[in-house]
Amino acid sequence: MPTTPRLFVSADLSTGRAASLDDQQSNYLLRVLRLGAGSQVRLFNGRDGEWNAALSAAGRQAAVTPVSQLRVQPPPATPALTLFFAPVKKDQTDLIVEKATELGAVRIVPVLTRRTQTRSVRLDRFRKIALEAAEQTERLDLPEIADLATLDAALAALPPGTAVIFCDEAGDEAGAPRGGEAGRARPMRAVLEGLKGRDGALLTGPEGGFTPEERAFLRSRPGVHPVSLGPRILRAETAAVAAMALWQAMCGDWG
Ligand code: SAM
Repeated sequence: MPTTPRLFVSADLSTGRAASLDDQQSNYLLRVLRLGAGSQVRLFNGRDGEWNAALSAAGRQAAVTPVSQLRVQPPPATPALTLFFAPVKKDQTDLIVEKATELGAVRIVPVLTRRTQTRSVRLDRFRKIALEAAEQTERLDLPEIADLATLDAALAALPPGTAVIFCDEAGDEAGAPRGGEAGRARPMRAVLEGLKGRDGALLTGPEGGFTPEERAFLRSRPGVHPVSLGPRILRAETAAVAAMALWQAMCGDWG
């Protein structure tokens, strides 16, 4: 039994208030899924919950008319999860944005660090990936995709009281004991035990990791909690997904 297609629309959703779909959505419903007039579509807009709607078409242009509300819009997630990530190669960065959306991040912030290879990002691409992931994962909202920011600016823009969980892969100095001069980070699980109930902002670095200066800067800031994600060096995308999953399991909405 194919699932009813689920689309994000920007229009307000209320009974009988028709909304026209954009060309891509019209093409998807009418030509890819080959749905006819009267077919059911599920809609959400991030404000009015989720609605059952009836499809109509005028030529290649589709429209949807909400019929009944399926789910009410929940209050914003608390505590809220923000992901700060240093962009990596294109496909892996796309994966981070998609998984952050599935894992419930409310804000996704690409941050520039000293060793970040890419110096520009395609926000329109990130927003498209996040929208498609939100439709698939049955979220009722979209994550905010923030513009590329420096580490300082990203931290400064955080709401007060947010706990910054800094994924600190140890070992900046080759050959030095893991953790370098600033010492190895505590296991993330132990750190999160003391952060329950607080908004969290996870920070992961680029392929080349954080510089010793960045690690010292981060460790010097109040509200920043260095954490270890175990004894192995994870790829940036693996670290982001693993850290978000652990945060949701211990502090977030996984129950
Ligand atoms: N500098 C690292 C090295 O030794 O090769 C590579 C950085 S790793 C590919 C990318 C990012 O993932 C790191 O900056 C860190 O944020 C996170 N990460 C990877 N493994 C981790 C670990 N075991 N503990 C904490 N963070 C980790």
